[in-house]
Amino acid sequence: MLPKNKTELCDLVYEEIVDCGVECVSKTITDAHGGRPRSFVTNQNLHLFRQYRNTVSPDPSELVKEAMLSKGWHAVVFASDLDPCDGCGEPYCEKCETHYFECECPGPTQDGWEYESFSSGKGHDGNQGAPLLYAKMVD
Ligand SMILES: [Zn+2]
Ligand SMILES: [Zn+2]
Repeated sequence: MLPKNKTELCDLVYEEIVDCGVECVSKTITDAHGGRPRSFVTNQNLHLFRQYRNTVSPDPSELVKEAMLSKGWHAVVFASDLDPCDGCGEPYCEKCETHYFECECPGPTQDGWEYESFSSGKGHDGNQGAPLLYAKMVD
């Protein structure tokens, strides 16, 4: 996938996440993959979603993650979400393949990071599902 196409796609997805929230956007991407473009996926931009699915990942959560990362937002990882390490019992981060206390994922309260929840988005009232907290490094 061409970098400029990926940038265009990430911008598109990020804007919609700010508006509607992570869960709503993931569902819309799943529907687009199923051949039902709706909402912010149109017949004009559907090819970008197809390219991402075919050349990068078929998992909508990967696209959401990449769109968020393109703007500096990392998903916050809670120790309670992780399984304990087989060796020592400390929480173990599968993504980083190391113990949580030494991995690069931001925790929920870390100095030097700002936090924002992208669960439901500013276009909607109330909390739809679990809060999805993201963190950005303050520079
Ligand atoms: Zn261990
Ligand atoms: Zn990690």
